[in-house]
Amino acid sequence: MVITQKNKLSMITSLTIVALFLLKVVIIIFSADFISGLVHWWEDAYGNPNWKFIGKSIVHPNIEHHRYPRKFLQNTFLDRVKISFLTGLIICSVSAFFNLFTLEMGITLFYAALANQVHAMAHRTDKENGKMIMWMQKIGLMQSRKMHGYHHQSPYNVNYCILTNYLNPILNLCKFWNVLELALSQIGIKHNRNHPDRNGY
Ligand SMILES: [Zn+2]
Ligand SMILES: [Zn+2]
Repeated sequence: MVITQKNKLSMITSLTIVALFLLKVVIIIFSADFISGLVHWWEDAYGNPNWKFIGKSIVHPNIEHHRYPRKFLQNTFLDRVKISFLTGLIICSVSAFFNLFTLEMGITLFYAALANQVHAMAHRTDKENGKMIMWMQKIGLMQSRKMHGYHHQSPYNVNYCILTNYLNPILNLCKFWNVLELALSQIGIKHNRNHPDRNGY
């Protein structure tokens, strides 16, 4: 078969389109995982259970989760994701209002909103998860029990990202969260881990 200049060009174009699509998928996965980590880090490091509204609805359940890791498995899927979906919906609506909304943004926030469900699966046994989830956890597209297990060790200050197995090792390596906390402490924002109401959790 003779490959003409035109065929060569269309092959390169197709390969570029596929490569760009894959790059976009990778960026979306990493961004969603990072969002899950950023929110979780803020809850763990700065959350105060006595705050009005979010203290009771977000910070307190998070402390309870550190204390009783499998207790939230008794909740429904909706219980686990409703606040994230509502927040994502508000962000998308505000972005759309200012003409800033993109499909990629919507997919990223949708994926990030599912983080607590993926998190729940990292607390289930293999038998509870089934073969498909086990396989996803094995390849790291869903966070494994082992990867998330490192977070459940006092003082709960590593592996905040809860979607995949890929981002935590990179952030741990460059001490991302420690550097961020140090930078914030320089402008007077101190972490709240030692708050008596957190009881070490
Ligand atoms: Zn935590
Ligand atoms: Zn957990």
